Amino acid sequence: MKKIQMVDLVSQYQPLKSQINSGFEEVLNSAAFINGPQVNLFSDNLEKYLGIKHVIPCGNGTEALQIALMALELQPGDEVITADFTFAATVEVINLLKLESVLVDVDYDTFTINPESIKKAITPKTKAIIPVHLFGQCANMEEILKIADEHNLYVIEDNAQAIGADYKFKNNTIKKSGTMGIIGATSFFPSKNLGCYGDGGAIFTDNDDLAHKIKGIVNHGMYKRYYHDEVGVNSRLDSLQAVVLNAKLPLLDSYNEKRRKAAEYYDKAFSNHPNLITPVRAEEYTTHVFHQYTLKVVNADRDALQKYLSEKQIPAMIYYPVPLRKQKAYDNGKYKDEDFPMTNKLIDQVISLPMHTELEEEQLDYIIKNVLNFFI
Ligand SMILES: *Cc1c(COP(=O)(O)O)cnc(C)c1O
Repeated sequence: MKKIQMVDLVSQYQPLKSQINSGFEEVLNSAAFINGPQVNLFSDNLEKYLGIKHVIPCGNGTEALQIALMALELQPGDEVITADFTFAATVEVINLLKLESVLVDVDYDTFTINPESIKKAITPKTKAIIPVHLFGQCANMEEILKIADEHNLYVIEDNAQAIGADYKFKNNTIKKSGTMGIIGATSFFPSKNLGCYGDGGAIFTDNDDLAHKIKGIVNHGMYKRYYHDEVGVNSRLDSLQAVVLNAKLPLLDSYNEKRRKAAEYYDKAFSNHPNLITPVRAEEYTTHVFHQYTLKVVNADRDALQKYLSEKQIPAMIYYPVPLRKQKAYDNGKYKDEDFPMTNKLIDQVISLPMHTELEEEQLDYIIKNVLNFFI
């Protein structure tokens, strides 16, 4: 049996090897490392895939979020609401720009930001909401967009973990994750569902003026060479990374299907177990692209399970062990534990099993057998 990993990018590379290698050679022979034709081709193709007018590539997913906030001209002191239970990049860029981060609780079933908690957190200073489409499912965008509309707030989607997921509105309109808010931000970090071989990211919008502004911000605030109209950043996707993304984008849907298949395989083994809760699909509004397969362990020792699996050479990760409001960098002393009942439960219960496009049945069987053995 092949060694089990959380993500197996070496195996995924094999069938793409000749295409990617020859693409790399083309870039090396042309020396167009920055803004080569591969980068434009990729943004054009991603625009078509997502059904959105503008995809602006950038350096990574964290910068994509930062640039989104800069483009909307949020000012120091403006409040931005986001989830307490997620990766830190979202709250990090809010604070980096001297905006006020307001962390709120998530939904226990779906792990995504809770619309009722958003409502309670709104003040006259609130300017934006950043829902995170965590673990591969969209947050409840219908509710979030309604709240945003009522209070005149921007919605920026953190789509780093859900590229390719479909959202279905009550009127049956279907949209791709990341294309529903005023701006969407994503990451092409190698382990994401659409990953390159280094850092990469992108910003999505349907708004022409914002797209123009974002294209300036990613390039030092330049709209005309050496004329700097505003303070920008340097954030680019390089041509070598675009080669990888051009090879993988046509496969994204089949990759996501492979992840779903692996998730269903896990589900079958775990769904009736008294100590395990399998990932809930919010099927009435979103598809699931399983960036992570995250179980909840109840009435049993989650950390002991992780240790047991590790002794059997099975990696398993705790995403996320500490709520953001309790991180030294983001603890403003104002949060009350009782406002976060779900996050408080989740941090003690969650465990993510290996999930990627190359999982073999033999590996899945071995993981399943050992998870079940732990409880015997
Ligand atoms: C990975 C990730 C990011 C950051 O992306 P980078 O490309 O690593 O900067 C932001 N938000 C979420 C939810 C992520 O999972």
